[in-house]
Amino acid sequence: MGFTETSNVLIIGGGVIGLAIARELHKKGVKHITLLEKGAVGQESSWAAAGMLGPQAEADEGGVFFDMTVASRDLYPAFAAELLEETGVDIELDRVGTLYLAFTDDDVTEVHERFKWQRKAGLPVEHLSAADARKAEPFISPDVRGALLFPDDWQVENRRLLAALKRYAEINGIEVHENTHVERLIVEEGSIVGAETETGTFHAAKTVLATGAWTSLIKLGIADLPVKVEPVRGQIVAFQTAKRLFQRVIYSRRGYLVPRADGRILAGSTSEKVEFDKSITESAAARLSEIALEIAPSISSLPVADQWAGLRPYAADGLPILGEIAGIDALFIATAHYRNGILLAPLTARIAADRLVGGTDSKYLTEFGADRFSLRRAGTGI
Ligand SMILES: Cc1cc2nc3c(=O)[nH]c(=O)nc-3n(C[C@H](O)[C@H](O)[C@H](O)COP(=O)(O)OP(=O)(O)OC[C@H]3O[C@@H](n4cnc5c(N)ncnc54)[C@H](O)[C@@H]3O)c2cc1C
Repeated sequence: MGFTETSNVLIIGGGVIGLAIARELHKKGVKHITLLEKGAVGQESSWAAAGMLGPQAEADEGGVFFDMTVASRDLYPAFAAELLEETGVDIELDRVGTLYLAFTDDDVTEVHERFKWQRKAGLPVEHLSAADARKAEPFISPDVRGALLFPDDWQVENRRLLAALKRYAEINGIEVHENTHVERLIVEEGSIVGAETETGTFHAAKTVLATGAWTSLIKLGIADLPVKVEPVRGQIVAFQTAKRLFQRVIYSRRGYLVPRADGRILAGSTSEKVEFDKSITESAAARLSEIALEIAPSISSLPVADQWAGLRPYAADGLPILGEIAGIDALFIATAHYRNGILLAPLTARIAADRLVGGTDSKYLTEFGADRFSLRRAGTGI
């Protein structure tokens, strides 16, 4: 099927991925973009996230996924500057860096190994003594035994990012329909021609599925969508301080603290397979407080100001699903970003828009294609 700038694109899902793809398509000159969202835009996983842009802090090896996280992080300075100019919204990209602390023998070994491979790969990382770590962040625990400093692992205020992307859509005539739940994709002769919702049908030349943890609930005609994504709940607690106690994102092997510009300190997070239950729990609050106290005992005197949960979209191998399904035309899937959807949004948007408008290929489409699970099964006979 031919695709021109006057063709229309339907995007299903108004999280960071759907919204970023809408913006990128508009920047490429696509004139008619419609986005359907079952609730309110930007209120699900993308809202619940901690906003860390940290490809290096938790990485034990290189590879295509690691390359993708680094490449997407590197788009952030321009992404933030452009969004500020386009929308007037500052997404608070904070480039002070990330500290990864070691407390136990196992932590010390891990920190040592991570430093070794990343240095060898030429990545920016420094090994700090306990004293230097405490000089960098005076409020961390005296029990710290050493740390890694990742100067290029940053953070962003993800809720402001969502506000900026939503504003971009409003200013630029991207048609957003909230409270519009897509039940099925309409298939005609092997091609997706639109979507059916409770309130009516939307037709489009191309359709993008950016429906996060809910992707597998959508029908492909009368069949199930051959893409398996499941929700993994993550909870965060937030402490409130009058002024900022920490400069950097601070990790241990058990969790992390993210200091926000407004004095909040986020402590995360849990990974729970509880279907589509977004409840917050007391046991998670207790566990996250423990993680926070290990990193910085002074936090014990701070009030817990907030607690929330979100559903991360998870595929069986923990990697994103990007691209088409074999035998189904005019559909692009962008989901399963699991723990890294905020980080991966700018690059995902580019890959999707390049593919939809210009048919451009990418090593990431090859690696993270929607068909990889069925192909692997076919290849191994499982
Ligand atoms: C606690 C926690 C901490 C995290 N921390 C980080 C972090 O520090 N850094 C990072 O990069 N990532 C982080 N993540 C992961 C990140 O939040 C996700 O990977 C990302 O938000 C996924 O974006 P999305 O747009 O695919 O999903 P979502 O934001 O969930 O958006 C999907 C949208 O699709 C809509 N939708 C679904 N089905 C339908 C339908 N049938 N019809 C219409 N609309 C539909 C939903 O309502 C939703 O708004 C974290 C996640 C959690 C939960």
